[in-house]
Amino acid sequence: MKIWVFRVSAMMTNCYFLCADPRGKGSCAVIDPGGDADELSEKLEAKELTPEYFLLTHGHFDHIMGLEPLRGFYPDAKTLIHSADAQMLTDVDSSYMRLFGGRSAPSKPADRLLSDGDEILLDGLKINVLHTPGHTPGSVCYISGDSIFCGDTIFRGGIGRYDLAGGSWEELKLSLKKIRDLPGDYRLYPGHGSSTSLERERWENSYLNM
Ligand SMILES: [Zn+2]
Ligand SMILES: [Zn+2]
Repeated sequence: MKIWVFRVSAMMTNCYFLCADPRGKGSCAVIDPGGDADELSEKLEAKELTPEYFLLTHGHFDHIMGLEPLRGFYPDAKTLIHSADAQMLTDVDSSYMRLFGGRSAPSKPADRLLSDGDEILLDGLKINVLHTPGHTPGSVCYISGDSIFCGDTIFRGGIGRYDLAGGSWEELKLSLKKIRDLPGDYRLYPGHGSSTSLERERWENSYLNM
């Protein structure tokens, strides 16, 4: 497996390319294609990567800004989002796309709606879906090997907002507990900021110890 991270959009959102091949060639998943689609497709081409999936940790505008034009460049790639955030692709208000992204054209619906426990296969690499609501109703973590792409649920030393539309502090608390109680250690790749490890957050992130 190989992972790249790019800071995209004014929100400094982390967009990840995940490739099953440790040499980093062939098909990949683009996790949270926020930012500029032309720039992202240039990076994909430079690395000779072909997206098989656009995996969305949730539906906020800064994680999907580049999605629609990228789908135009790569029509065979499938867009996946949890069912509880599905409407955020087609509703520019609940995604805050109109308010903060300055765009009023909705995206097309997802190709596949996800539920907790679903498995996604990328070139033989298993990616498991953990439903972690609270930041949004359909926030998910994508878990593959010892890596977790955790969106805006947990950050290094912090957690995501729960005061936006559909957010819930009670749900976020349960989701953080779910992540904390996963056995063993993982590398955490959040939606903003630096990567960290689950073990480090268990010790240093007070929100994981409430
Ligand atoms: Zn968000
Ligand atoms: Zn975000």
